[in-house]
Amino acid sequence: VSAVLLDGKAAAAVVRERVRAGVDRLRGQGIVPGLAVVLVGDDPASQVYVRNKDKAAKEAGFEVRTVRLPSTTAQSDLAAVVRELNEDRGVHGILVQLPLPRGLDAARIVDSLDPRKDVDGLHPLNVAALALGREGLRPCTPLGCLEILDQHRIPLAGAHAVVIGRSMLVGKPLSLLLLERNATVTVCHSQSRDLKGIARTADLLFAAVGRARMVQGDWIREGAAVVDVGINREPDGKLAGDVDFEAARERAGAITPVPGGIGPMTIAMLLSNTALAAARIEERPAPVQEMRGAAR
Ligand code: NDP
Repeated sequence: VSAVLLDGKAAAAVVRERVRAGVDRLRGQGIVPGLAVVLVGDDPASQVYVRNKDKAAKEAGFEVRTVRLPSTTAQSDLAAVVRELNEDRGVHGILVQLPLPRGLDAARIVDSLDPRKDVDGLHPLNVAALALGREGLRPCTPLGCLEILDQHRIPLAGAHAVVIGRSMLVGKPLSLLLLERNATVTVCHSQSRDLKGIARTADLLFAAVGRARMVQGDWIREGAAVVDVGINREPDGKLAGDVDFEAARERAGAITPVPGGIGPMTIAMLLSNTALAAARIEERPAPVQEMRGAAR
């Protein structure tokens, strides 16, 4: 039996529609939500990502400002740009496209973001908020993974979720979100023994590794939902996920493709986070001020 295709483009369109409605509501109150995208250097993949985010944000009704800086930008100059955006009342979301060129300290830049505007959810206060189950901004890719499952009514509570990968961008926050949603979570990484054996026990299998087709068909439990986060460039220029899609779809109950799966979901959740940030900043600034205070 072939798996149900979890179509990221379709699911992203649903999110974007929801965001548009939120943006319209804000605009009705005279608030124009603004997103600033900061791109340093000329990494080709980052250029493509930034272009896509810029376009999607404009379509959703955001005011978008893309700040392009040369790869030779000094840490202090980048920090000054972030400071300005932090203070700018017209900017509700700031995204600094990672990775930064060599010589720039990404952690220090992320730490300097106003956590209320940190739409990537990477600021330590947002990471802590996730771990503590408090209000904050959650990272976009993990949010996209859950959103697509929710839209297909695939239950998380009580399910055994296996997450392969433990990065701060994907695997770790994803595992916390799954736990928050009452899944039983196993997190695997490069030191995990018997990856295949663990993967085979998953009701929900998430691959966020960065190795083309590492997850083979026989790693998949019959009927499992498979979410492939990986984006790997093949020698022929094509994109491949971390999962062997053709083999996996014969066993899985549902599966995301690459491309057209979690990629579009990530952008949609960035828009969703930006609308959320704008609403929180504009509609109830008081409690969040305390959070900012704590950052200093
Ligand atoms: P990282 O390289 O930061 O993390 C990879 C993780 O995979 C690490 O935890 C690493 O373990 C683990 N790993 C590496 N090799 C193995 C192995 N042989 N067996 C088991 N685990 C292994 O990558 P990211 O999390 O940033 O990204 C993962 C993938 O997702 C990439 O392909 C990336 O391009 C893609 N991606 C896609 C996005 C989207 O929008 N669809 C967004 C973000 C990322 P250890 O910690 O032990 O080193």
